[in-house]
Amino acid sequence: MHALRLWSVRHARGLRRVYDLFSRLAPVVAPVARAIGVTRTEALLRPLERNAKGLLFDCRMCGQCVLSATGMACPMNCAKEMRNGPCGGVRANGHCEVKPDMRCVWVEATAGTKRIAPDHLAHPTPLLPAIDQRKRGSASWIQVIHGKPNPAFQPPVGERITPQAQQGPLERACRSGRFVITVEVAPPDSANPADLLARAEKFKGLVDAINITDGAGGNCHMSSVAASAILTTHGFAPVYQVACRDRNRIAIQGDILGASALGVQNILCLTGDDVSQGDHPQAKPVFDLDAVSLLHIARGMCDRGEYASGRKLLTAPDLFIGATANPFVPPFGDRIANLEKKIAAGARFIQTQFCFDLLMLEDFMRLVRERGLHQRAHFIVGVGTLGSAKALGWMAQHVPGVHVPPALLARIAAAPDQKAEAKQVCIETIQALARIEGVAGVHVMGHKNEDTLAQIISESGLREQTRLHCE
Ligand code: SF4
Repeated sequence: MHALRLWSVRHARGLRRVYDLFSRLAPVVAPVARAIGVTRTEALLRPLERNAKGLLFDCRMCGQCVLSATGMACPMNCAKEMRNGPCGGVRANGHCEVKPDMRCVWVEATAGTKRIAPDHLAHPTPLLPAIDQRKRGSASWIQVIHGKPNPAFQPPVGERITPQAQQGPLERACRSGRFVITVEVAPPDSANPADLLARAEKFKGLVDAINITDGAGGNCHMSSVAASAILTTHGFAPVYQVACRDRNRIAIQGDILGASALGVQNILCLTGDDVSQGDHPQAKPVFDLDAVSLLHIARGMCDRGEYASGRKLLTAPDLFIGATANPFVPPFGDRIANLEKKIAAGARFIQTQFCFDLLMLEDFMRLVRERGLHQRAHFIVGVGTLGSAKALGWMAQHVPGVHVPPALLARIAAAPDQKAEAKQVCIETIQALARIEGVAGVHVMGHKNEDTLAQIISESGLREQTRLHCE
């Protein structure tokens, strides 16, 4: 089955032609389908579609077929059911974060898309909404017969500017054009807010916002919505991270509304890491949404004042919405298509995975500038440090989506004081990033390493420059 799936991607161009022909001819049989009845026609088509597409594409019968937009690779084979592009955890060999023996479905989909249209990056890619769970198991061909092959595509959202008086500190900092600094803090395994505040206090006066992770790495901590609300109450500017892994769209929208009601002004929409590497590997991952559909829903709540269902909100949230990007894993340059979707879906700032490879980041930013994405969103690049070459090497091997060049590992390993050298590398990276056109700031990360991160921010000199700039 898998071999046939790969064959289909290799022959995506021919299969797309067959699909286009079928789409043109299918409405001819619409009167017959109407005469038989839509329900009966669907029941007749279902086994045919299941067998034909099951054989060719390992089709999972989601009932909302998008093969024509995904290079003839069925996105339902993705372990996170991503419908708009790859997650950030793709392995260096192009294999899946969750199923290491399988090539990432989106690496395949990108190859298929290029076969269909070599200039695929020149065209805007359709935004696919979250799957309609009611349609699972039903035939998609019935929609083609009725001339509505892709009713599911979503329009991009436009630019939205919150009046300056209502902007939070992070949005104001991004819009000011000065270099932005954000930091990541993991909420504690504690029911005491003081444990969270002790971590946040280390960054007082040093950063523009503090990201609160949402079960990072599949590990359980205090909820990110509660931690963000606590920080807001104590005068910090949190970025409430929302992962799609643990909650469905009902729970997530309720949390977004609740966070806004509690004064939280920034959210970061992300797919979420696989549960298998966390402390609850027996948990059921949800992935009702992917990051793009979550962004689109969050923007719909803010801009149109309505839930994904279309039901109106009494008062809409007003949020500065961000997304993540990982320039350091396959399918490398083609990831820009997924990033562009995130921006079209509503992201106004982008935070990246750890940057340990400046050359790769420069390539990525060149693509960003070519497509004018830096004018539509603020790019905040992830940086960080670990205490030794061994710890860094372990992270590169075990944390999905982290890439560390061997030369950097060798430099740190050869140093007499590895911790100091790793810190120096991070400071040099920050200073180099500040010189790259389109980089709006840095996002400093490091698990339970707050003291070192605060020193790095101070020693990089950027905070001082920022202060002088603001005075
Ligand atoms: S690496 Fe991510 S996007 Fe690719 S198949 Fe696995 S879960 Fe899906």
